[in-house]
Amino acid sequence: MTTVPFAPHPTTEGFVTRFAPSPNGDLHLGHVLSAITGHEMARRRDGRFLVRIEDIDVARTREAHVASILDDLAWIGLTWEQPVLRQSHHFRDYAEAARRLRHMGLLYPCFATRGEIIQAVAAEVARGRGWTSDPDGAPLYPGLSRAIGADEAAERIRLGEPHAWRLDMEKALVECRRRLSGEPLTFVEIDAEGREAVVPACPERWGDAVIVRKDIPASYHLAVVIDDARQGVTVVTRGRDLYAATDLHRLLQVLLGLAEPRYHHHRLLLGADGRKLSKSAGSMSLRSLRQGGMTAAEVCQEIGIERLGVTGLRR
Ligand code: GLU
Repeated sequence: MTTVPFAPHPTTEGFVTRFAPSPNGDLHLGHVLSAITGHEMARRRDGRFLVRIEDIDVARTREAHVASILDDLAWIGLTWEQPVLRQSHHFRDYAEAARRLRHMGLLYPCFATRGEIIQAVAAEVARGRGWTSDPDGAPLYPGLSRAIGADEAAERIRLGEPHAWRLDMEKALVECRRRLSGEPLTFVEIDAEGREAVVPACPERWGDAVIVRKDIPASYHLAVVIDDARQGVTVVTRGRDLYAATDLHRLLQVLLGLAEPRYHHHRLLLGADGRKLSKSAGSMSLRSLRQGGMTAAEVCQEIGIERLGVTGLRR
């Protein structure tokens, strides 16, 4: 029996939500909706609200962004429990979880570069084969490193060749079915009023997903399931853009024996171009709206949050 260095939260009781921003930019209104949704759902049920800084991508993290995110959340009128978990402090735990998956035979090293993957997919398409994309729009991994034998892989790793670790989806699904005694993999989605719906999960649509990145001993998918379990999060509140990722998260939770939270995927705020707000699309930051003189009440109005009946917010 392997030991787990991180202690999963002992219970999944109560109502514990979280807001988990990546500090590679300032918050925009979409983040504010996300944070208020989690805060409000917890407040209404006498629950707990946590903030987690998802800074595994240390090269893109700026301390100034961490500070401005927390300052913006406080300005809006939110309060959260201390201490704020920083994922960059927990790489050992993600590495240990990956080691467990490896020992179960569910991960394999992938040495392929992005360019090689694109080329392999293009060659398949040129041969007239259709190629499926994952829910994020990236072509499914064409299996380039799958055929590499264990000895060769070990040697290349020993020589320091950069590699990611991918989930062997076929094997993972078999193991998942075994653990669930043949029951289907699902997740529970709750609406803002707490009504539940059971949703079938199809992690296979992600193909052999990257579980440990080349540049970082973790990935978003691995770190998020470890930390939701560690922090005893019972309701994961986040935008609908992450709806499909939940399928993969449920699979990892089953494989790693982690508690199952429920999920609330809230609506997305769209820009004038009909696309979801994002840093990359240059959406207005909360910081610049504040500097322009907007009040917290006006921000809430802008995102149509009154409908949630927020009372704890500064007006
Ligand atoms: N860190 C992710 C982001 O900023 C959100 C993760 C989550 O809520 O599961 O997009």
